[in-house]
Amino acid sequence: MPEIDLERRVRDELAQLDRAGLRRELHEPSGIDLSSNDYLGLAASPQLRQRMAAALQREGCGSTGSRLLRGHRDSFACIERRFAEFKRTDRSLYFSSGYLANLAVLTSFPQAGDVIFSDQFNHASLIDGSRLSRARRVIFPHNDVAALRRLMDEDGRESGQKFLVVESLFSMEGDFAPLADYAELCRETSSALIVDEAHAAGIYGDRGSGLIEAAGIDDAVFLSINTCGKALGAAGAFVAGPDWAIEFLEQRARPFIFSTAPPPAIAAAIDASLTLIEAEPERRARVLQLASYLRHRLGLPSGSHIVPVIFGSNERALTVAAALQAEGFDVRAIRPPTVPEGTARLRLSVNVNLTEAQLDRLVDLLCAASS
Ligand code: PMP
Repeated sequence: MPEIDLERRVRDELAQLDRAGLRRELHEPSGIDLSSNDYLGLAASPQLRQRMAAALQREGCGSTGSRLLRGHRDSFACIERRFAEFKRTDRSLYFSSGYLANLAVLTSFPQAGDVIFSDQFNHASLIDGSRLSRARRVIFPHNDVAALRRLMDEDGRESGQKFLVVESLFSMEGDFAPLADYAELCRETSSALIVDEAHAAGIYGDRGSGLIEAAGIDDAVFLSINTCGKALGAAGAFVAGPDWAIEFLEQRARPFIFSTAPPPAIAAAIDASLTLIEAEPERRARVLQLASYLRHRLGLPSGSHIVPVIFGSNERALTVAAALQAEGFDVRAIRPPTVPEGTARLRLSVNVNLTEAQLDRLVDLLCAASS
């Protein structure tokens, strides 16, 4: 058997990352936040801290087991009921992360003979979930309803269940999926629509439940995935949908069954965050107002609170990020494989605590650094 020098192989790959400007480093948060997903500023809010601290005192740290064994608590069941109401679905199930929730959904429902239609810019967790499933995968061009329709037609009727998997707001493009068109297409083709609301939950829609609410297509969606580590300022994720589907996840989803339940105190933080989202709609209104301001100042069309500024080369994106960091802005360069080759960018994410004056200064610096 040929001998593999594992260390050398790994070191070669690390050296390749260096040469391509793709080596990542870990940095503590520092400076004005333009890179976190804490859009509503809830992660540090006194209400979440107090509720979570009190729960921690009561319940201790670890949950001590899987939800199906000794890890379950009433507080998990309560926030699942509350989140289902928020999302206007029968039921929801809480997972320890959005990544695992996506793996759970995509490995539980699509089976051999089925087909998953997946947007080309879907998040890694959706890609990995589809890869782990036994279904066939068809990747369609980003947000292209006509191309998707053609691909679905070509696929014919003989295949099994069709699934359409998209993000409602794309995490790196900052653009919206054409959800109403997808809802119609899924009705016509009897496809199951799965929507990842990671970056939309807590912000869009009159009640803040997300873009499914804003598009008024609740009835057309099979399942939604809603992370709690972003606008909700906590951690974990809910899958929301019909009773029978959530029951099936609870019985069959391996990331739910074979993983220790999250620390119970997180349920109190999520509960507090839902209360704030309901009681303080001005938070999300302010995020959208600041996003419009930033987009306008950058000469971009109106859109979401995620604003990509694309540079192309990894080095260029890193240099501009470093220049902004030196001026006190926490801006990070996003490089492949998070985004496609040749589209390295700054991903500016707008949060409620920013001011117009800070955004003015950011735009000036960005213009100076890009010229
Ligand atoms: N889906 C999308 C679209 C995401 O952006 C992310 C997080 N980056 C996830 C899922 C995963 O969520 P979590 O961080 O809770 O694992």
